[in-house]
Amino acid sequence: MAIAYLCLGSNSGDRLKSVEQAVSLINLAQNVKIIRTSALYETEPWGVKDQNWFINMAVEVKTDLNAQDLLVKCLNIEKTLGRDREKEQRWGERPIDIDIIFYDKEVINTKLLTVPHPRMHQRAFVLVPLLELIPDFIHPVLNKSVSELYDDLENVEDVFLYGTRGHMYE
Ligand code: ATP
Ligand code: CA
Ligand code: CA
Repeated sequence: MAIAYLCLGSNSGDRLKSVEQAVSLINLAQNVKIIRTSALYETEPWGVKDQNWFINMAVEVKTDLNAQDLLVKCLNIEKTLGRDREKEQRWGERPIDIDIIFYDKEVINTKLLTVPHPRMHQRAFVLVPLLELIPDFIHPVLNKSVSELYDDLENVEDVFLYGTRGHMYE
């Protein structure tokens, strides 16, 4: 039995519905149970700026699957919800993205999977939702807590609780 942390994101189609459907499909998956979830956040795109804002959240799961099987499950759920990587630009629009951020304290570096997620410590949209769940969890490679990683962020993109961003008139 392991505890893993997933980051979910959507910035195309019905974003809220996609994230909610992903949560229920994760919970329905065999050998995976959701324990806690963060709030929903609306976040500024990271990497490729000129696109829709995202809805992001973090999910804590308990699982009997190893990390690779958990990834395969996540990739299948993405596909079920309409994700097609062949039509995408790197870090571009997608109906759903599910990343494994931590899997217990395991450090994994295979062709398919890098855990902890290699860019999580550069991303406010990952760290802010995680702060709700595990502020004191120590990153097994960087040896810093989630809240220390958040304090170390250099470029902080905008992250609002969902529903509090307001309307932008441009
Ligand atoms: P980023 O990894 O920067 O968040 P992305 O999520 O847009 O970018 P994807 O196209 O969704 O990237 O994923 C590409 C591949 O990354 C996946 O097919 C998967 O094999 C691999 N991968 C490696 N480590 C992880 C991880 N920790 N969580 C999810 N996928 C991972
Ligand atoms: Ca991602
Ligand atoms: Ca991904």
